[in-house]
Order: sequence, then C-alpha cells, then structure tokens
Amino acid sequence: MVSRRTVIVLGPLSVATAMLSAPVAQSRLAQQSPIDVTRESIRVEPGLPRLRIFYGRSDVEIEYIRKDSASPTGCTTRHHEETEEGTVARGSGYVTLAGTRYDLVQFHFHTPSEHTFEGRHAPLEMHLVHSSATGKLLVIGVPLVPGPPSAVDKVLAKFAPECGEPVHVPAIDLNALLPADRTTARYNGSLTTAPFAEGVQWFLAKEKTVTKATINRFRSLFPHGNARPTQPLNGRRVQIERW
Ligand SMILES: [Zn+2]
Repeated sequence: MVSRRTVIVLGPLSVATAMLSAPVAQSRLAQQSPIDVTRESIRVEPGLPRLRIFYGRSDVEIEYIRKDSASPTGCTTRHHEETEEGTVARGSGYVTLAGTRYDLVQFHFHTPSEHTFEGRHAPLEMHLVHSSATGKLLVIGVPLVPGPPSAVDKVLAKFAPECGEPVHVPAIDLNALLPADRTTARYNGSLTTAPFAEGVQWFLAKEKTVTKATINRFRSLFPHGNARPTQPLNGRRVQIERW
C-alpha cells in the first residue's frame, strides 16, 4: 500500500510551484541545478561523510505530475516541467548522511538527462528525492543509458496519463533502481523546476541501463524534452571520494 501521506509530504513544494507563475530571477541565485560536471570542477576528498543507502521493497504509485492545469489544452500539452513520478511507501527506503536520515519520497524522470558530463547528456535521468524530518532535500541522480533491462523498465512499463488514474506497480526492489557501483559525485544545488529552491544536496550516481524501447517510449511522451538546461557552477566544486 502506498499511503496518501507520502503524497502529502511534497505538498508544500507543489503549492509553492503553483503560486509562482514565473520562474524566480535565476541569475541572482548562485547555486542552481543541474550542472555540467567537468574534470576541472571535480575535487577528490577521501574524508567525505559516507552516503549510506538503506532501500527495501515498496509498491510504487506512478502518477503524471502536471504543471499546466490552468490551461484548457493542458491534458494534451507536454509542459517541460512535467514528468512521470513514482511515489513509495514512507520508510521503505532511506539514506543517511553525517547522522541525518533522509527518507525516499518519490522518484521521477527527465529526458534528456539534466546533468551532463563534459557536456554529454544521457538519454534519460532518474531523480530519487529524499527528505529529512526538517524538510531538507537530498536527491540521487542516475543517468539512464541503453542496455539490458532493469527494474527501471518495470516502473516505466506503463505511463500514468496526464489527466487520468495513477498506475500501481507492486513490490519493486528499490535497490534495483540504483547501479551496483554506489560511487557518487556530490555538490550543492537546487530544484530543477520552479521555484528552483536551493539547499538541495545532489549525489550523482553511475549509469544504470534501461532498454532502448523504454527510452524511446519516454522520449515520445516528451518529444520536446522535460529537462532544465545546465546552470553556471559559480565556483562550486563537485566532490568525490576517489577516482
Ligand atoms: Zn528532477
């Protein structure tokens, strides 16, 4: 069962999004996401606090996140901030960092990838959004590239329609959404959709594979893409534990 409570958790974000009709002045915000990760931006810091991942199993409720509900043609218009989002049962997955627990709340998808590496996009990117008890956000970004099928194909097997019922996917092993290699690159950034709030801790993971068919189906749902362009680093560093 996915309780409605998990949906309510992100309520304030959705309300804030709806209230802001125009994006905030992006140029005045210094730590925006996504970014292009370059070799020069990376610093190796072996003493970084470890990100520990504790994922179990959960039913997943896939729903279409709308950003154009005020528009009469909104049900068929693909707004660039819309996506397919999977909500998990509260407590079914969490991470810890430096003594703080962050519960997995939802995960969603962008095409092409929002983060780039030396300017290169992956065809898709999955964002696993975690929230602490005080509402601090930690997001794991996973580039999705064509290859053997994975659990990600299962959750994207049937898209929720923009103006219809959510799709129920039973008993997903949340661990299987992540790559086996848990090495991450971290930096301080923001939400990539309005209101672009900062203070989001980003952890960029290694690539995970999905089938070419899944990539093509998601691309056909968002033919003009649903990714924000990369933002200036403004002196930020991307930290990794090791090469
Ligand atoms: Zn995202």
